[in-house]
Amino acid sequence: MVQVSEQMILETLGRVTDKERGGDIVSLGMVSGLNVLDGNVFFAIEVDPQRGSRMEPLRQEAEDAIKAIPGVESATVVLTAERDSSPQPQPEQGQHHGHAHGPDAVLLPDVKAIIAVASGKGGVGKSTVAANLSVALSQLGMSVGLLDADIYGPSMPRMMGIKGEPSSSDGKTINPMEAHGIKVMSIGFLVEEETPIIWRGPMVMSALEQLMRDVAWGTLDVLVVDMPPGTGDAQLTMAQRVPLAGAVIVSTPQDIALADARKGLNMFRRTNVPVLGLVENMSYFVCPHCGERTEIFSHGGARREAEMLSMDFLGEVPLDMAIRETSDGGTPIVAADPQSPHAQAFLAIAGKVKSKLETLVDEQASEAPKIVIQ
Ligand code: ADP
Repeated sequence: MVQVSEQMILETLGRVTDKERGGDIVSLGMVSGLNVLDGNVFFAIEVDPQRGSRMEPLRQEAEDAIKAIPGVESATVVLTAERDSSPQPQPEQGQHHGHAHGPDAVLLPDVKAIIAVASGKGGVGKSTVAANLSVALSQLGMSVGLLDADIYGPSMPRMMGIKGEPSSSDGKTINPMEAHGIKVMSIGFLVEEETPIIWRGPMVMSALEQLMRDVAWGTLDVLVVDMPPGTGDAQLTMAQRVPLAGAVIVSTPQDIALADARKGLNMFRRTNVPVLGLVENMSYFVCPHCGERTEIFSHGGARREAEMLSMDFLGEVPLDMAIRETSDGGTPIVAADPQSPHAQAFLAIAGKVKSKLETLVDEQASEAPKIVIQ
């Protein structure tokens, strides 16, 4: 079988020209994040944000050219609109206008506070917490948006019970979907379910930026962001591109997960994002038959860990069938059964988050804007 090399890909792409800019896309420095894995080719074509929508034919052409190479099994080519992507000549004529949408603009100016819900690893219930926390904050009277930034495994369409595609009123921005009183946006609304997306660093960043910049979020008290697990590019993008009010770290009581949670925590600390606190999920189990409470993992680990790391402990959520069924069934427990003890656990957490946000937003308002762009 022919071994596909990066060199072969670049040679082929060297024959794909960007007619507007009069050159091939390799020499123009537009190809980024090239990755070849057993004949599967991934890369991004970086384009000026203003040209974004006109570039689809070029993307298609590049993809077709790559697919035609013997040995190539698949080609995934995405357009990204990034700043400082390459040595791009400045446009000679025409002003660089529209700075509200320019890359340096502060994203989400009408959102009072943004909180990132993060975990060191997957499967700890981060999305479940993000969904229930969002609905709970809305029940506490806040206007809430929920951004599913877990682009590796978007779960909000399912957890919030939303089907269909978002609309656009102006052809430029996407209207968020709505469910259980909150606005929701997820990459899951835009790509086919089951389509595996393999994201490279730069793509993650630009996809995230688009979900913030190109979505008509409107005015919100808080935008809850369900982060991808881990501590990579997405965290950094969020920390750098939007003024994050704070992060909520979700962890299960197992020590191993806590070690992961610590990584997540350190990431936010390094980027000066205040950590609002830790939520212990799947904390204990109450037997639905006899009511006996069982500590499956050594319960309380998260609380101790939070103390050790001098961050606040926001609360614990039990491992319970009802939580799984409701979140997997499209109505988070806080919406499905607000009086239940589980919903009350989330509401108590939301109450703490809300009061912390209010303090932080007041503090931040009195300081100069802190957004860091490198
Ligand atoms: P993550 O976002 O960390 O990958 P999810 O929120 O998708 O995790 O949760 C993983 C699975 O565990 C889901 O099926 C979810 O319904 C279930 N789950 C999460 N938290 C709980 C809980 N407290 N009790 C029971 N099931 C839960």
